[in-house]
Parts: sequence; C-alpha cells; structure tokens
Amino acid sequence: MRENDPKVERQKFICGNWKMHGTLEQTRTLLQGILSQWNSEYSDVEVAVFPPFTALMEASRLLQGSAIQLGAQNAYYEDDGAFTGEVSLRMIAELGAGFVILGHSERRTLFCETDELINKKIERSIATGLMPILCVGESLEERERGATDAVVTKQLEHSLAGLTIRHFSRITIAYEPVWAIGTGKTATPAQAQESHAAIRDRIGTLFGRETARDLRILYGGSLKPENAHELLSLPDVDGGLIGGASLKADSFMAIVQAAAQITSQQQA
Ligand code: PEP
Repeated sequence: MRENDPKVERQKFICGNWKMHGTLEQTRTLLQGILSQWNSEYSDVEVAVFPPFTALMEASRLLQGSAIQLGAQNAYYEDDGAFTGEVSLRMIAELGAGFVILGHSERRTLFCETDELINKKIERSIATGLMPILCVGESLEERERGATDAVVTKQLEHSLAGLTIRHFSRITIAYEPVWAIGTGKTATPAQAQESHAAIRDRIGTLFGRETARDLRILYGGSLKPENAHELLSLPDVDGGLIGGASLKADSFMAIVQAAAQITSQQQA
C-alpha cells in the first residue's frame, strides 16, 4: 500500500473540470487544442475532460476515436421525473459520459449537497454504468483546528455508505482541500501525501487492504504545470482533478505530459 509495495500499479488519471466554462465555440477550440497536442507517449495516462452539460454532446462528437474520455460535473440520481432543472445520470451516460464528478466542494457549499445525497448519486451512478469521482476535502477553518482527518473520514463514511468492495473498481476519490481550489494556494507535497495516505488507510479499514491498494486518489487544488511533477510523483497521488489549468490546452497538456513522464520513470 506504500511506495515500496511492488504490486502497486495504479494508472495515473488526469481530469479537467471545466466548471461553468465552455460555450460550444470554446469547447471546440479547447478540445481541438488538446487533441492536436496529444502524443502517443501519453497513452499510459488516463485522461478525461468534464465540460458543462450543454457541451457534452459536442465534446462527445469531437472526442470520438480519441484516447480522451468524457465525464460530467454532476447529475441527479433519479432517471426522470418532476425534478425541474436537474439532469439525470442516465441522460449524461446517453451523451457519452463515462465518468461523473460527485460531491465537488462547490456543489457542497454553493448548492447545499449533503453526504447523504452524494451517497445516492454514487450508488445510482454505478448502477447506471458510470464511474463516479467522489470529491472530499476540508475547509481552511477545519484544517486550522486540526479537523482535516475527521472531516474527510466523515465524508468518506457517509458518501460511501452501503457500498461494497465490488463497487470499488468503478470509484475514484479526489482529495481537494477546499482552501486550495481556485485560490492559487496548493497543498504542500507533505500535506497532500499525508491526506492521501490517510484516505487510503481509511478505505482499507472500511473496504479492505486490496481495495485501498487499487483505489486511485486524485489531488485537486490549484494543480498546474509548475507543481504537477512534484505532486503527481507522491506515492499516494494517482492523478489530478484540475480546474483553472484545464481551461487552456497548453497547461492541461503540460500536466498530462508530467504524468506521462512520471509513469515512464516508474516503468523503467
Ligand atoms: C477543481 O475544480 O476541482 C479544482 C481543483 O480547481 P482549481 O484547479 O482551479 O483549483
């Protein structure tokens, strides 16, 4: 379960969370930029982009036949019904999304999403054939009063309630300290590694050591080309969930390149 464990083979996973950015025109420009910089040396890295709902269909069309995968930033757990303004997991799957981000801190704080709601979405997303990326992380106030571990543990226990080991091959966790998202402040390598290792340990306690060993845990929070190599090299950091730096093809692909370099160094 640690860096010296010879069985650890988690493919790096780089995700671009576009948030509420991406008209159709911007989607075409960004994806054409990403696709034009794609290089076969990146094929050992898994890469996915998460445009807004309205751009999913166009993104799906543009990414067809490419190595870049598609996901959505959220969805509702019911398939259909009287839920004005919501979009269902089934609908995003129909548009070609294979992944869905759930429990992002902006959903939790701005749209009052609870662990219980996120739990239903995770369960339904797996039943719908999607692969959820569950976001967890503490606020600055929680970190400063030493509550990081307790906050993240509660988010994990409640968001993953009722799930079993067999669900875990489809789940990714993103550790995103809220104070680092969109602020330019990044967790230090020591802070990131400590939190990722604690999450892996907690998953080990809840779902077994093998599940924990195979689980990918992404770091999110002002990840950019300048700090990508250092953060993505950490033993328990298996990739990144990237907001701001995913909106420019150059910076997003520089992060993909850093992940590819680390992978080839590890394989050598
Ligand atoms: C995010 O949106 O999940 C994120 C980490 O944003 P940023 O990279 O801009 O901090």
